[in-house]
Amino acid sequence: MNISRTDVKSQDKNDPLASMAKAFHLPENMIYLDGNSLGAMPVAVVERIQQLVTKEWAEDLIHSWNDNNWFRLAESIGDKIAKLIGAESGEVIVSDCVSVNLFKLVVAALKKQKGRKKIVTELGNFPTNAYVLQGIAKMFDGQVEIVAVERSRLEQAIDDDTAVVVLVHAHYKSSEMFDMEAITNLAHDKGALILWDLCHSAGAMPIELSALNVDMAVGCGYKYLNGGPGAPAFLYIAKKLQSSLEQPISGWWGHDNPFTFSEDYIPAPDIRQAQSGTQSVLGLAALEVGIDTALVADLKDVRDKSQKLGKLFIQLVQQNCPDIQIASPEEDDKRGSHVSIQHEQGYAVTRALADRGVVVDFRAPDVIRFGFAPLYTSYENIWDTVEHLTAIIQDGSWDKEEYKQKATVT
Ligand SMILES: *Cc1c(COP(=O)(O)O)cnc(C)c1O
Repeated sequence: MNISRTDVKSQDKNDPLASMAKAFHLPENMIYLDGNSLGAMPVAVVERIQQLVTKEWAEDLIHSWNDNNWFRLAESIGDKIAKLIGAESGEVIVSDCVSVNLFKLVVAALKKQKGRKKIVTELGNFPTNAYVLQGIAKMFDGQVEIVAVERSRLEQAIDDDTAVVVLVHAHYKSSEMFDMEAITNLAHDKGALILWDLCHSAGAMPIELSALNVDMAVGCGYKYLNGGPGAPAFLYIAKKLQSSLEQPISGWWGHDNPFTFSEDYIPAPDIRQAQSGTQSVLGLAALEVGIDTALVADLKDVRDKSQKLGKLFIQLVQQNCPDIQIASPEEDDKRGSHVSIQHEQGYAVTRALADRGVVVDFRAPDVIRFGFAPLYTSYENIWDTVEHLTAIIQDGSWDKEEYKQKATVT
């Protein structure tokens, strides 16, 4: 039986998260399906940034490091993020960007795992992760080998010479998820450490880092956590490893007591050591509002809605434009919170959708991603999107020269 708009509207009526959308500024006449790349702005950010700028910065100035708790923000926000990813207080801290955090943790892991040479990772995942690993391999000058394989060969690739396994939990293009528990155990069985990149899963589903005995993780502040453009990232180190992992960018913020200004670096014995230099307070303040907003929702409801949105999208595409190739798993539990389709002129299609008010993104060479942020995407949004997509495909209106000229950011 075909799905009707009435069916979809009743899904919105029964949505336990329906009231969350009010917490975000969503532009009029726009269906925003790119929260997997840059989350929408929580309304409360405006007031928080205003207060930060006009009071804490303008009036309180340097006193704010103590009086407005600026110096400990990265830790206290880390503790809030811990609740979203199943970690304990003191296991997560906000700092830098994902690329830098990945560098710190992988180098720390290699030092700890002396005698083991390999970094095992997935082929064809997000480029920055591969680039950072390549940089590390160059730095270690032949002492480190990157083993990048297809998913199906991962089990074979992890062996007694593997120092660390570095994987992205939900794939940035296909949305395909790893079984975090199975792969974590696989790594541990061989004595390797595991590092999960949560960029496309944190904030979109429950994650159980402690329960699954995960060693390290990194994640992004500006995607499903809605921390704003260039929001600082976060990293997690399991408590049991904090005293034996030493990250290489040993700056003063990671010192046990930075204000003694001692000559020698003494690492903080806890998660603070993962910091390097002065944190961006403006970035932290906006991120905190995003995290506070996310903490209002029950992550089980979030995951449930995310799966239903994805499923509805897939069913409607199959119902209305059966020729379109779905490039994400159809099984709900194998898929993250976005669904990708393939089209050989994918970029032109994203531009034509944008002209109709539907914002999605394109990933070369031929993938269009539809990101569903359960806190503010409605079921009706999915219906309208597929209606626009069907119209564009049927009338060929994507086929314009102006749609094929790529902008700098796609
Ligand atoms: C978004 C994303 C990043 C972002 O890295 P930055 O260094 O913070 O820009 C890294 N890895 C993955 C898998 C991502 O999706």
